[in-house]
Amino acid sequence: MSLLDKDQLIAQFSAYAAHVDAGILAKAYDFSVRAHADQERASGEVYFVHCQSVATSLVEWKMDLPTICAGLLHDTLEDTPITEEAMREEFGEEITRLVLGVTKLERLEYSSRDDVQAENWRKMLLATAQDIRVIVIKLADRQHNMRTLGYLPEAKQQRIANETLALYAPLAHRLGMFQLKGELEDLAFKHLWPQEFADLEAKVNALLAAREATLKKFKESVEKALAASQIAHRILSRSKSLYSIYRKMQRQKKPFEEIQDALGVRIITDSISNCYALLGIVHTEFKPVSGSFTDYISIPKMNLYQSLHTTVMGPGGELVEIQLRTEEMHRTAEYGIAAHWRYKTAEHAKDAHLEEKLNWLRQWIEWLQDLKSPREFLDSLKTDLELNQVFVFTPAGEVKPLPAGSTPLDFAFAVHTDIGYSCVGAQVNNKMVRLDYQLKSGDICKIITKRNSVPKKDWLMYVKTARARSKIRHYLREKGIVA
Ligand code: MN
Repeated sequence: MSLLDKDQLIAQFSAYAAHVDAGILAKAYDFSVRAHADQERASGEVYFVHCQSVATSLVEWKMDLPTICAGLLHDTLEDTPITEEAMREEFGEEITRLVLGVTKLERLEYSSRDDVQAENWRKMLLATAQDIRVIVIKLADRQHNMRTLGYLPEAKQQRIANETLALYAPLAHRLGMFQLKGELEDLAFKHLWPQEFADLEAKVNALLAAREATLKKFKESVEKALAASQIAHRILSRSKSLYSIYRKMQRQKKPFEEIQDALGVRIITDSISNCYALLGIVHTEFKPVSGSFTDYISIPKMNLYQSLHTTVMGPGGELVEIQLRTEEMHRTAEYGIAAHWRYKTAEHAKDAHLEEKLNWLRQWIEWLQDLKSPREFLDSLKTDLELNQVFVFTPAGEVKPLPAGSTPLDFAFAVHTDIGYSCVGAQVNNKMVRLDYQLKSGDICKIITKRNSVPKKDWLMYVKTARARSKIRHYLREKGIVA
């Protein structure tokens, strides 16, 4: 991707925020150029190229003006004589706070010792919980550092690549930034296991070449089937990221040749009802593989992802995975939370969807705050980032996404802390179940509560989510039941 210069940054920003005066962006740009004038990157390039890359990504993700300015300035407090006071005077409180947030993160050294590392990550998440834009800037920073990783000494490459796989890619995933997640993972993969990366890349390219003609023919037959419907749509080919193919091969212990969804087709249309209409046409034309259909529109994933997934048999007998989604879902799938930072042209038009998701992210980080030991934190980070989820319904029909293996207690705490605290039993699909029952997708769970009932110590053995665990621990600790 090419870097944007000052005028291009302003032009691209104004394209989505025409009503905002971008004057301060020009000022931040010039300020950063001057501040870093004497510095070089390990690549030998002028240092400012790094700041420019961060700002280019932030504009591409359609972030707001203070975030882009802070992106340009993000290394000035750390690496130049510029003081916090001087920055506040020039750029005001909001931008300065964002830069300070990123600077704090820079100072957290990665450690190979698990517990120290976990503690640092925890600090980082807490420090940034107040403003998720700090994480977004940090991700743009990490993206450019990963793109230029080859210039660093070997040991440093390994350390940074490991940290990217363990923390930054999952964070991008958590924020629904799939394109970025794929890029970070593939860059880390390439540096950590160069031979495996090269082998797999060659295989995928060969498969792409071999299947190009088939895929083209398949797209044409889909196109023909859909044309009669008069529903606006476009069809794209997609290929899975190399690292996710690699992970799948390891997980399923299968050779590359047996990974079926390495390639596929995406159909993008204008409305949710048209997604289902087009799905109907696809299923009439091509035989769906039974059990392959998943509806992430009516039951979205914990991150922002929404789409319909189905695998069908093409005209030549080949299996092709098809994803159907709206333009908006497509943007969200590529850019995640960042896609929702759009400026509304109408004054005060709040993005309820974004607010809801952000609240949920903040809550998650808050729960992490209650966890005392670094080990507990690392475990919950891993569990909560798990993709395997179940969707459980309240008797009123509200859906609660939970990690697989969750129990009625997890569900109770997901509904409300007081319901969790006063839980004495649970019914699933109108039958009484034990509190260690493992919930399944589609279960309707009713929590039975009793006034003045309190959490029990053995509940800690039955819960899977960080939220339930931290709430129970919090209670037990206050009562002096556990340390
Ligand atoms: Mn940086």
